[in-house]
Amino acid sequence: MQGGTLSTTGNKSALISIQKLEKRYPTRDGEPVHALTDVNLEVPENELLSVVGPSGCGKSTLLRILAGLDTPSSGSVTVNGKAITGPSRDVGVVFQQATLLPWQTVLDNVLLPARAQGQDRKQRARELLDLVGLKDFANKYPFELSGGMQQRVAICRAMVCDPSILLMDEPFGALDAMTREQMNSELIRIQAEQKKTIIFITHSIPEAVFLGDRVLVMTPRPGRIAEIASIDLPKPRTLASMGDARFAKYCTEIRTVFSGPSADVHF
Ligand code: ADP
Repeated sequence: MQGGTLSTTGNKSALISIQKLEKRYPTRDGEPVHALTDVNLEVPENELLSVVGPSGCGKSTLLRILAGLDTPSSGSVTVNGKAITGPSRDVGVVFQQATLLPWQTVLDNVLLPARAQGQDRKQRARELLDLVGLKDFANKYPFELSGGMQQRVAICRAMVCDPSILLMDEPFGALDAMTREQMNSELIRIQAEQKKTIIFITHSIPEAVFLGDRVLVMTPRPGRIAEIASIDLPKPRTLASMGDARFAKYCTEIRTVFSGPSADVHF
């Protein structure tokens, strides 16, 4: 793949470093599910790494391990050179569903992780709501917001403790196409302004290319890295980036890495 680089190990400047990661889930019938195998990956600071791959190839498993919500069966996963031992203030997670508490206001939902740690982050929460265009919705309840607005609240919640890493598991999958485009632009703006390192799982190859500094393509289960493509498109990306001839070329190249009927990606 042109512009593609295979994952490497031993890069000391990497913020996230994964080496020889294996994950097997025990099952009741005794045959473990081999979810991930031989994953080696280095993610530098401030990179947005998109991840695509067939359903069930271990993308969410990888994210949960990075979030400290699951553990490797073997191999090493470090952030800033330190092994992950559990959820960290320095890592924010956004899932497909916003999962806001319906009985709490937007502001209180954003403040949840901060309060759990005994921190007063009201000003930061308001700044974030302003950043995502929800300044005037702080005292509303989730049912008064559209799906896209709720997801923006979930992003603010993930960022309220100022994590340097954002892990996003198909965060815009449930949104309509227009809102999704707006959220993509929003994410690009947030990353440019806030200098986050972001790992972004998606089923959409165009979304992966549009957002990513690199796109990691995984094989069917047990998931391993099939390819990592560096996306050489000018930044900041705008909707016009999708009209760039290279954009279509990257999408086509990544698509060709997929094969077989199990490919679960949107073209
Ligand atoms: P993806 O996000 O790529 O769709 P997942 O990481 O959710 O894939 O799952 C990878 C594989 O691991 C699947 O076969 C799934 O059934 C299995 N798996 C995921 N979580 C568990 C679990 N907690 N227990 C047992 N098997 C699991």
